[in-house]
Amino acid sequence: MTILRVAVDAPLDTLFDYLAPAAGPLPAPGTRVRVPFGRRRPVGLVMEHAATSDLSPERLKPVLEALDEEPLFDPTLLQLLTWTARYYHEPPGSVAAAALPAPLRQGKPLPEPPTRVSARGPAPEEMTRRAPRQAALLDLLAAGPRRTDDPELPAGWRATAARLVARGLVDMEPEPAAASWDMATPGPQLNAAQEQAVAEVLASLGSFSARLLFGVTGSGKTEVYLTAAAECLRRGLQVLVLVPEIGLTPQLVERFSARLGVPVATLHSGLGASARLAAWADARSGRAAVVIGTRSAAFVPLARPGLIVVDEEHDPSLRQHEGLRYSGRDLAVMRASLSAIPVVLGSATPSLESLRHAGEGRYALARLPERPGAARHPTVRLVDLRRHPAGEGLSGPLLQAMTRHLDSAGQVLLFLNRRGFAPALFCASCGWSADCRHCDARYTWHRRAGRLRCHHCGHEMGVPSACPDCGADLRPAGEGTERLEEALARRFPGVALARIDRDSTRRRGAVDRILDDVRDGRTRILVGTQMMAKGHDFPGVTLVGVINADQGLFGTDFRASERLAQTLVQVAGRAGRADRPGEVLVQTSYPEHPLLQRLLEGGYEAFAEATLEERRAAGWPPYSHLALLRADASQPQRAMAFLAALRGTVEFPQGVTVLGPAPAPMEKSGGRWRAQLLLQSAARPGLHGALDACLRAAPELAESKGVRWFVEVDPQDLF
Ligand code: ADP
Ligand code: ZN
Ligand code: ZN
Repeated sequence: MTILRVAVDAPLDTLFDYLAPAAGPLPAPGTRVRVPFGRRRPVGLVMEHAATSDLSPERLKPVLEALDEEPLFDPTLLQLLTWTARYYHEPPGSVAAAALPAPLRQGKPLPEPPTRVSARGPAPEEMTRRAPRQAALLDLLAAGPRRTDDPELPAGWRATAARLVARGLVDMEPEPAAASWDMATPGPQLNAAQEQAVAEVLASLGSFSARLLFGVTGSGKTEVYLTAAAECLRRGLQVLVLVPEIGLTPQLVERFSARLGVPVATLHSGLGASARLAAWADARSGRAAVVIGTRSAAFVPLARPGLIVVDEEHDPSLRQHEGLRYSGRDLAVMRASLSAIPVVLGSATPSLESLRHAGEGRYALARLPERPGAARHPTVRLVDLRRHPAGEGLSGPLLQAMTRHLDSAGQVLLFLNRRGFAPALFCASCGWSADCRHCDARYTWHRRAGRLRCHHCGHEMGVPSACPDCGADLRPAGEGTERLEEALARRFPGVALARIDRDSTRRRGAVDRILDDVRDGRTRILVGTQMMAKGHDFPGVTLVGVINADQGLFGTDFRASERLAQTLVQVAGRAGRADRPGEVLVQTSYPEHPLLQRLLEGGYEAFAEATLEERRAAGWPPYSHLALLRADASQPQRAMAFLAALRGTVEFPQGVTVLGPAPAPMEKSGGRWRAQLLLQSAARPGLHGALDACLRAAPELAESKGVRWFVEVDPQDLF
């Protein structure tokens, strides 16, 4: 008797045993089945077959229905899912659910392979008069065959096409697999460092290797990916590229498809469910040669995987912060290892984790030290805000530099990582300030929208016309991008100005429009949050201003300085990419701060070396491993009491340091009180043992009532 061990999306850290369906073939591992589960009939994923079950035979039920003829995931990917569940201490069913596109999760069938519709010739003239719809479709197809899932086909085209097929004027047949992916057009002649990086990647095709590609912005990392990818494709192997946020890097997708000349599938949350499913199916069947996607694409099945690239590997967006909390980058490395293929991690500002791996030889290191051609590194200067006070965020030296660059036809980028008009609204007379009633946070004033919004829980309200306590006038404190934009409009009248942040890009296509206007030179000044720091190529930008570097200098989190250094270097990298020298001005009240000094004198690498040394001395990652147990409850003290009880109950393995419980740095958020217990260990097994013990003990505690909890392994932020 064969037992099917099935991952079902339920909050239980186990697989569930079922019998094969009464009729039909045995569902293979990697196929979906519908199962009886309490009162539900959810879709599950068969993870493995077993000969025996811990359940007594009379309690075993057969699955209700097999949903797939062919496995959706091959054994390697099933291994990856299992590893993910264990490593992140998540139920296998939630991992399987995260890996499946929504329609498949709901039990819909895998879409049929697309069919190609082609015309035998253009519409004859009399048809244009007598059957205009048929004629229009025929003309469209005569210009070139289309896939049946092409969104440009007119509504209701199928009925029209059926008539044309009956008349022998149109053919519908399965889309032929591309005869060859050897379609790349040559790029620029690579320099020696690029050549070597490509050669090393190609030498390890067919076996696992992890390689950190450390090259300043504009040093040609993407050219390395493209050249290595072209060779993979020539050998008929697929390439998977993970990026932090696809909406922000449309250029990258265009560059891959233009250079490689093959079908590129994109996978990201901006796509509708069916477009996502189509891309997923193309990756799985091998129709897509290149797959570019955000973190969840780490799970996408590939028929013939050859190479994985993780671009901007340091970027926090590669991490999923809700539901299944995982690092897309770390999964990519594990996946490459299970699939025995190379993975390339690229960044101008690598994470300290990856730098340490490289330093200790677990990752190979490839450096691209120079920008190709004439492009030179920008000069960076600090502006001391104590000597040059900044009205509305703009100091004298920055304003002068802006005038100079604008007068000589340059473009200016101003970076301010805070959206809205002002981060606080307060009463100058009695000190009252507008605080979110659900969080330990101030409301941000969005003046244009006329709202106060909490950026932590999303709560919003109208703006009071006067201080509710004393009736005096309210004043904004500090500035956000909206206020900066207004100040610039006043100071540089007639100069085309744009803002890019989450507020200005809510509408579909807004990001592309704003970026296009900057690239084409129509926009002369761009104000933005970190959205603009990510990988965009703005050849005309000659001046970058960082409005305030101080937010990151004294952050409570041990990673705050790493983040700040990465952001500063990435933002500075937008200047002077083409043949014009760039200039970067960083406004700060602490120009003597060692972080800024190190960055200025030795660049990111000097900063990273010194910071790694500090982390080693303090025993922080990457010299130890962390996990957080987070808990929250709708009443104060509950989460703390729960974690305290847990700490008192669990016997922690040797070598695991337990810190806390402590209230979360922002204790109240979204109307819930939050607390956390931090586990630290030099070795991973101890950490995982401790988490297992915690998760076993937690539900048994009386204090767990009314408390939610979850685990975060390798947390990026401790708040
Ligand atoms: P990165 O990905 O490191 O930011 P890119 O690969 O985008 O760098 O390269 C930056 C610019 O330099 C691009 O316009 C690219 O076409 C060009 N470039 C890259 N490598 C070379 C080279 N070897 N010779 C000439 N131009 C190059
Ligand atoms: Zn007041
Ligand atoms: Zn709030």
